[in-house]
Amino acid sequence: MTEQIVLVPAPPDDFLLQACGRFRLLRLWEEADPDRYLADHGGEVVAVANPGHSPVPVSLLDRLPNLELIAHVGVGYDSVDIEAAVARGVLVANASGSNDNEVADTAMGLLLMAVRELGRAEQHLRAGRWESDGPYPLTDLSLRGRTIGLLGMGRIGQAIARRAEAFDMTVVYHTRTARDVPYRHLPTPSALARTADVLVVAVPGGATTHHLVNADVLTELGPDGVLINVARGSIVDEEALAAALADGTIHAAGLDVYENEPHVPEELLALDNAVLLPHVGSASVPTRRAMAELAAENLAAWFDRREVLTPVPECAGLLPGSE
Ligand code: NDP
Repeated sequence: MTEQIVLVPAPPDDFLLQACGRFRLLRLWEEADPDRYLADHGGEVVAVANPGHSPVPVSLLDRLPNLELIAHVGVGYDSVDIEAAVARGVLVANASGSNDNEVADTAMGLLLMAVRELGRAEQHLRAGRWESDGPYPLTDLSLRGRTIGLLGMGRIGQAIARRAEAFDMTVVYHTRTARDVPYRHLPTPSALARTADVLVVAVPGGATTHHLVNADVLTELGPDGVLINVARGSIVDEEALAAALADGTIHAAGLDVYENEPHVPEELLALDNAVLLPHVGSASVPTRRAMAELAAENLAAWFDRREVLTPVPECAGLLPGSE
């Protein structure tokens, strides 16, 4: 049997290397001349194990004429040129289901920090101001009686909704197609923002969701409104958000993701009412390990049985038996 060669295009975390121990890995990032290496060996590659931050552009796909599968170590796969992959008959699997709860926890953490100002209250204590100036001021807002509006009701949206229910919040949502869930569906992002006082972004990145949260949606959210984004920076118009936070159009925001990571605009850094995390939604040891193991399981399932465990929806027509 010919050896199944798996390309790793960019430095992965140790979990991916451990999980992929049974495969022959081509560690492209260690090559002195990656272009030359691909020109000589690209035809031997049948699969890619792709670290979540790493792009798979059409120029890379062109160098891999025998590629069958990209096992992407992330739930969001907007860094993979999915159209080009599908056009070449290349299957793409993501890490769907391996980090829903971790990301939902992060969303609730951001929500608590934004509404109850927990980070700022801790800074007050650490700066000695509790003793010198007295207690931290009361927060204007509370989670009590709040309606949470989920933009997206997939795996992560549903995990956030379950948590919000436990916090006694009312849950509403918007997706393009209404789901069989016990929450009210709203027809547009604007209607969602009008109805909710917390808007949580949990849709994929990419062209169809670019700036779905714009100045108009933020105006609908209103002066007591709070925006949480744990999905992708591209979904929120960052300039409009900074302006809305600065002039009181909305009350606060909690962000894990940005339009041009790792750059965070000065306008956001300058704001007290923006809680800013460095894309840590899934960043725990157990969850990152589970994501890497799922990628390795997808590779093994493909090599052993011609199955893909978590194909992305765009690949449905390429799966064995789909014709
Ligand atoms: P799912 O595919 O399970 O769900 C996506 C949801 O978004 C669906 O409800 C879908 O419904 C909705 N949606 C898609 N496009 C649109 C649109 N144009 N307008 C309105 N709704 C839309 O994804 P997950 O819940 O697993 O993940 C969501 C995203 O979270 C990922 O794509 C990823 O980018 C991000 N993420 C971020 C992490 C972090 O570290 N911060 C970690 C993991 C994921 P419908 O198709 O009916 O519209």
